[in-house]
Amino acid sequence: MENWEKLRLEMLEKINAVRNEKEMEQLRVEILGKKGVIQGYMSRMRELSPEERKEFGKSVNELKNSVETYMKTVHAKLKEAALEEAIKREKIDLTLEGVKPYNGSLHPLDLVQQEIEDIFVSMGYSVVTGPEVEINLYNFERANTPAGHPARAMQDTFFIDEDRLMRTQTTAVQMRALEKYHDHLPIKIICPGKVYRRDDDDATHSHQFSQIEGLVVAEHITLGDLKGTLELMCRRMFGEEQTIRFRPSYFPFTEPSVEVDVSCPFCHGKGCNVCKGSGWIEILGAGMVHPKVLSAAGIDPEKYTGFAFGVGVERIAMLRYGVDDIRDFFQNDVRFLSEFNREE
Ligand SMILES: [Zn+2]
Repeated sequence: MENWEKLRLEMLEKINAVRNEKEMEQLRVEILGKKGVIQGYMSRMRELSPEERKEFGKSVNELKNSVETYMKTVHAKLKEAALEEAIKREKIDLTLEGVKPYNGSLHPLDLVQQEIEDIFVSMGYSVVTGPEVEINLYNFERANTPAGHPARAMQDTFFIDEDRLMRTQTTAVQMRALEKYHDHLPIKIICPGKVYRRDDDDATHSHQFSQIEGLVVAEHITLGDLKGTLELMCRRMFGEEQTIRFRPSYFPFTEPSVEVDVSCPFCHGKGCNVCKGSGWIEILGAGMVHPKVLSAAGIDPEKYTGFAFGVGVERIAMLRYGVDDIRDFFQNDVRFLSEFNREE
């Protein structure tokens, strides 16, 4: 006869050695399956006498029940352990800081340009743009700078061919507007855009930069209108306490011409590094539109007058944001550009 208790203990030991659910299933088939060990004993019952069969069958059943029960208990524990393992592995730490998505931001030059545009649009100006590849007529001749004029040499020009060039000033857009609207006066426009000069790039010069020029032509326009307009712009840009001053200057397309200084927004006129101790910062050029420019566009200079001004966007942005190298605006370093996100 079999030693049932020994057999039972051996099987329990095997069950104890199982490490996971998969091994448990293999062992279950091995012991309890249709071709398993228990079934093997069952099939031997036929060979026994009826008396032996009764005793034998009872023992096999007891063995089967015991093993099956123990297997279920161990299986449940394995299942629980596997679940705990999975929870540990897939655990989400809700206290971790999230990863912020990167939002692009407007370029600092665009921010300044938009700000200046907003100021003038609020005063009834229209925004007008024109081509960056210009012809001599609009870039120079209409602006009272005929061939041979010394002012042409002052602006080192990128020529494409004899007549076409990369515009050196947004004045070209003004000249186109004067021609187009000469019989629809008054004109009240600002012209933002990129201009190009054959400069060697350094901390304060760039072969490409941006201007915003303004032009007003109507009856009875005076230098006082120009001063009031620019003063308002400076106060909106740099603060209500700002004042401006005019210094005489020369541009071929304005007469008289002036350089415009704004009181230093950093030291309020006391003198500092930025204004080099003077208390004033030069920010733009301006003047009354030259009568020759008006008549070249078909406007009667006896009846109409006008003023014009041009501001460098980089110059304003450098003052505004404390940037000391103009090249920073063009190198597209995200670390630099992301400093100017208006939403933060
Ligand atoms: Zn200063």
